[in-house]
This record gives sequence, structure tokens and C-alpha cells, in this order.
Amino acid sequence: MGVKRKRDAEDSSVLPLRFGKLHLNVSLLSEQTWCEKKLVYGFLKPQIRKKDKQRPEVQAGTSIHLARELEVHDVVPINIKSREDSAALSLINMLHMIPSLETGQCVREFPVFGIVEGVYLKGIIDELSYNQKGELVLKELKTRKHDSLPGAAQAHGHRFQVGLYKLLFDALVRGEMKKAHILEHLKVKACSVLGTEIITHASYVGINVVTFGELLEAFLLTLSCSDLPCVDVLQLEYCHQGSGSLIGTEVVQFDESQLRAELRGYVEYWRGQREPKGVDIEEVWKCTSCSFEEICDWKKNRSHIPESLHTTKRDNMN
Ligand code: SF4
Repeated sequence: MGVKRKRDAEDSSVLPLRFGKLHLNVSLLSEQTWCEKKLVYGFLKPQIRKKDKQRPEVQAGTSIHLARELEVHDVVPINIKSREDSAALSLINMLHMIPSLETGQCVREFPVFGIVEGVYLKGIIDELSYNQKGELVLKELKTRKHDSLPGAAQAHGHRFQVGLYKLLFDALVRGEMKKAHILEHLKVKACSVLGTEIITHASYVGINVVTFGELLEAFLLTLSCSDLPCVDVLQLEYCHQGSGSLIGTEVVQFDESQLRAELRGYVEYWRGQREPKGVDIEEVWKCTSCSFEEICDWKKNRSHIPESLHTTKRDNMN
């Protein structure tokens, strides 16, 4: 840890990904670990996905996250008018939180981004804080409808998610992200004048800029002058939605080569190098709680699967 390395940016590809995407979200990749076919149906059938996201347990999870965020800072609505505005907002939020983190305070909803395995990834870390040993702890809060820890399949996605956050955060503090990478991958222009609300928001947190390029340079300069450490500890925290009580925590082991190998497998789909895959036969029990079960061709093609495999295990998303 702490060794400066250049790696991902060298192998960057700026070709659009499937569905015209320029970047992937860490939470999206985490969903992909559950069932790739389900993820794809979410894009093809957005109305079903929307209904799925409106389930009470999903809404309850969102409210708990927001309440936690409000404990440490205010949330202000900002009008976004361009791709540059959207990228600028993350940079401003990071610039606002870096000094707090440098002085040992806890920050929540910390944005991260970077190029991993040639793909631009974005995410938002739930919480960064220091433990009694002075180690930087990255914490991800997961809320659960049931008062129990998740099963292995779901926990796998959570571990993958925090691992990617660490890769992104560490690369940023090591200074691996360059101006050209951001401009190329997000197809944003340095000379683009930021929206009025973004400029006002930036000045409110002490940054006086007009163009996206100025903001980007201020951000990269701040990062290069900061002495933020890499993440030492990855932690998952599970809370019960009904009572708000803690169900349990898990310290996640970080295996970079395994994480990257898994990511490469998912990225193959996004680059159009292969078709999406449904669940393996041993995990067909996932289909019973899937909103796309009725229309899923992967499931239909496996209708010969013995009934016992449909019902042996339930590890739904809550
Ligand atoms: S029905 Fe099964 S294979 Fe199809 S999308 Fe849902 S979980 Fe995936």
C-alpha cells in the first residue's frame, strides 16, 4: 500500500459500451454479479425495473442511506444541464470532503471514479472514516428486510462492490488519474462553461471556477497536494430496516487479482464480446424472486430443470 503505480489508464478504450454507455457504475456491476440477464432485462424493460425499485424494502433502504448522509452534511438539489455539469458535481463534492478526511473526520457519500481494466467506472462510497489504529476504513451500509445476514450469493456482490471502491479510491490518491483520461472517457470538453448553479455551488465550497477544465485542474492539484492514504479496511455493515438495529458487520478481504479477473469477465459483456448469461443451474433458485422470470428466455430454455433446484434455497435481494 502507498506505492504509486500507473496501470489502468494505459489500457484505456474510449469506444462506447453496450447501451451507448461511456462509463459503468459500481452498483451496476455489483448487480451483474447476481444475474447478468436480469441486469440486461432492466435496460430492455425499464418499466418492470422501475416497479422493482419501488418495492417498500428498496425505498426503505434509500431513506436510511439518506438519513445517514444528513447526519454529516446537508443535501442540496442542483440543476444539471450538461455532461460537464454532471462530472463537475462529483469533483466539487470530493473537493469539499477531502479536507475533512485529511483532518481525520468521517465523510459520507464520497464519489470515486477511475479507469479499471480499460473501462471508466464511477461509484459513491457510503462512508470513509478512521479506526482507533488510524487505519482508513471504507464502510458500505446494506439494509435488510429480514433480520439476518445475506446468503453467500448476495454477500459476494457486496464484497465485489467494496473491492471496486477501494481500487478506485486508491488509484485517485496515488495520482493515477490524469486530465486527458477524464476528458476522453466521459467525452467532456475542458473549455465548456459550467451551469450557473454549479458555479454557485463551487464558490459556496470555496472553489472559484467557470469552466470544467479549471475545475478539473483544481481537483487534480488538490489531490496531488493531499496526503490521503489508501484504504486499509473494507467493511460491510448490515442493518435491519424495521428496527434500524445492527445485524452484523463483515471485514472483507481484498484480493486485487481475483477482483480484476472477475471484472474483466463482466466487461466482456459490456464491450459486446459475448452475450449476457443467466444464472448457473445451481443458482436457479434466484429466478423465483426475479421480476423478469415470466419473460426470461434463459429461464425458459432451462424449463427442464428439476423442481428441487428451484426451491432449495432462497437468498433474495433483501
Ligand atoms: S429469471 Fe433467472 S436467469 Fe432470468 S433474469 Fe431472472 S434471475 Fe436471471
